[in-house]
Amino acid sequence: MTEPREVELWLCGYIAKCSAPECRQRATKILRYLDNQGRPDHQTDAFDTHASELCVELKMIDRRRRPE
Ligand SMILES: [Zn+2]
Repeated sequence: MTEPREVELWLCGYIAKCSAPECRQRATKILRYLDNQGRPDHQTDAFDTHASELCVELKMIDRRRRPE
């Protein structure tokens, strides 16, 4: 198992709860963790403030820009 080094940040387009423990906020972002080959490893949903906390020490790739 490889430790994720990078995380992609996506807008959460569905209704989900923030995955931080004890948090009751609705998720606004999807964090998609990539393994060291750049492949998606797992993903989680989080509210803004917790998303930043979950990405500490990871390289963040912002994918929120929507094509117009
Ligand atoms: Zn939260």
